[in-house]
Amino acid sequence: MNWAAGTQCVAKSDNKKAKSGELVYHKGDFLTIVDASLRKGYCKARHNTTGDEGLINSSNVRERKALRVDPNLSLMPWFHGKISGSEAVCKLQPAENGLFLVRESIRHPGDYVLCVSFSGEVIHYRVIYQDNKLTIDNKQYFYNLIDMIEYYSRNKGPIATTLMKPKQKQGTKSAELELSKTGWLLDITKLTLGENIGEGEFGAVYEGEYMGQRVAVKIIKCDVTAQAFLQETTVMTKLQHKNLVQLLGVILHKGLHIVTELMTKGNLVNFLRTRGRSVINILQLLQFALDVCEGMEYLESKKLIHRDLAARNVLVSEDSVAKVSDFGLAKVYSKETDKAKLPVKWTAPEALKKEKFTTKSDIWSYGVLLWEIFSYGRQPYPKMSLKEVKEKVEGGYRMEAPVDCPPCIYSLMKLCWEQEPRRRPGFTKVKEKLEQEMGKLNPSPTAEH
Ligand code: ADP
Repeated sequence: MNWAAGTQCVAKSDNKKAKSGELVYHKGDFLTIVDASLRKGYCKARHNTTGDEGLINSSNVRERKALRVDPNLSLMPWFHGKISGSEAVCKLQPAENGLFLVRESIRHPGDYVLCVSFSGEVIHYRVIYQDNKLTIDNKQYFYNLIDMIEYYSRNKGPIATTLMKPKQKQGTKSAELELSKTGWLLDITKLTLGENIGEGEFGAVYEGEYMGQRVAVKIIKCDVTAQAFLQETTVMTKLQHKNLVQLLGVILHKGLHIVTELMTKGNLVNFLRTRGRSVINILQLLQFALDVCEGMEYLESKKLIHRDLAARNVLVSEDSVAKVSDFGLAKVYSKETDKAKLPVKWTAPEALKKEKFTTKSDIWSYGVLLWEIFSYGRQPYPKMSLKEVKEKVEGGYRMEAPVDCPPCIYSLMKLCWEQEPRRRPGFTKVKEKLEQEMGKLNPSPTAEH
């Protein structure tokens, strides 16, 4: 196999006793090809967690592929929805011990039924939904069905047999299988969870360690939300850029664990607010603006729209690099709730009014983000209500320049806030302007002579 430099790979087997110059790795480890033009059958690779570099046998790795976005991808392929008991029995033929499915109860709306094939019969276990939890025996409680199926696949409990084989609903594709085939399914036993570091709208975020690497883990317990996030997570498998928070993989446990690189300095708003003018100079602000712009330029090149670009969704790494996060996840909001939940102060007028989201509406949000950066994390449109913002902005009102903001940066903000989307610049144009400005503040040594 001839891999190109930069290819992300997964090791197919161990190489524990490496010879001199060879890289040590284990089955399932993630490696990046550094140099492919070596002697036949070998290439140089870097271990993604240890950072070590060395030779590897090219045929001992497979490429870590992006997942195809597929609406049939399901975290619960064994869930058949509202079908009757007799239909469930038909579906579980030919009988096989441990073959199972879950259906919605017709007689008890809100409850579920676990149907399991055992000794030639199908046994139906009623799953009671009570106080936001699920139970079969009033002893063991679960947050969601995924959690329950996972548990009874390992423990028999009151069931005649452990669950062995899901009866897949026609047309669905098992997310677990697809994630595993493409190398994005991580192993829960290798994860150590640490402190809670944030609360998102859909789940808590924890610090953790995965095979020696510090990670952030977002845990989504509600299975409907988890399913919605799964679609967006598949989008993230396609993305790799220094200014986007990198997805490392997912774990299917108690819902969905989304594992990303850890951004130790937290979100950009808090970073700027807690440090302020005395610590952060204009050059650093410009660098943050440029970081975000480059991340967005990459998203634009992939034809993706963020929809929720704001300083709260930009995170800062240990070495103070700003990276865009929550990209793609913005689409989790369903159409109906869209309008009520839109971040009004960051959303372009045409997106607010006609739900017209484009790269140019992302540019509008980027302008507001620039304002947040140069005001050291202030809330945009200070003291104005959302209704007022909507009306005034529609009528042509724009925010004033933050205190001490370089005039050309303020001009750039106003360009991003052109009423007519076509007249706003693209991210490449914004990048050029920011680079020019940085050049003026920080002339290169050659320019000084
Ligand atoms: P929301 O759902 O509101 O978009 P998130 O769930 O993405 O928010 O994150 C909530 C908070 O958790 C963030 O503001 C940030 O402080 C923290 N956080 C999220 N992801 C990471 C990460 N990769 N590294 C460090 N902190 C993070």
